[in-house]
Amino acid sequence: HSFLTMNLSRPILKALTTLGFHKPTPIQAATIPVALLGKDVVGGAVTGSGKTAAFIIPILERLLYRDKGKNAAATRCVILVPTRELAVQCFDVGTKLAAHTDIRLCLIVGGLSIKSQEVALRSRPDIIIATPGRLIDHIHNSPSFTLDTLDVLVLDEADRMLSDGFADELAEIVKSCPTSRQTMLFSATMTDSVDELVKMSLNKPVRLFV
Ligand code: AMP
Repeated sequence: HSFLTMNLSRPILKALTTLGFHKPTPIQAATIPVALLGKDVVGGAVTGSGKTAAFIIPILERLLYRDKGKNAAATRCVILVPTRELAVQCFDVGTKLAAHTDIRLCLIVGGLSIKSQEVALRSRPDIIIATPGRLIDHIHNSPSFTLDTLDVLVLDEADRMLSDGFADELAEIVKSCPTSRQTMLFSATMTDSVDELVKMSLNKPVRLFV
């Protein structure tokens, strides 16, 4: 397998070369072609498997080409992760992969000023990378913030978000998103509560375990 056979666009291939990603990891080889078709995905993958690029590459492709002509300044994707550290790592990979595009990413996590995040959200970043608690704060307290324009929702490390007590927040965020969206869920383990979350938030998902 090679990234070259996946029909990726030039700006993404260029970023992959800069990053030194020459060959897709198994989770990338399994996820990218399915996600590019717009299907919902459940992926069994741990940190270190390359799962971040596995979901960010198809998201960037979708934002680059699929929905051109839609309202230019609108948030199109939310990526939820359990911790601030994972959010920063995800933002870092995403920013590098988007380096040759005009796609804008925004980090919404605890520990940073709510006010400055509100300002960032008002500019309608294309992709929001967030922890569930802080995103809920903005949904509740920022009147102009909405997830109505969302095309893609990612629930990363779902088992950990649930065991950290974010089940209610996840349910509320999922309900705030349009039903027509694409959803990708990644989890190291498949517990009953992860299964419940899959049933609640995904539509006929393709299950990928590598
Ligand atoms: P992740 O599981 O997404 O946290 O990624 C783990 C590490 O693997 C990160 O440091 C990535 O930069 C790296 N990585 C991801 N995909 C590739 C790839 N296709 N080739 C080489 N390294 C990669």
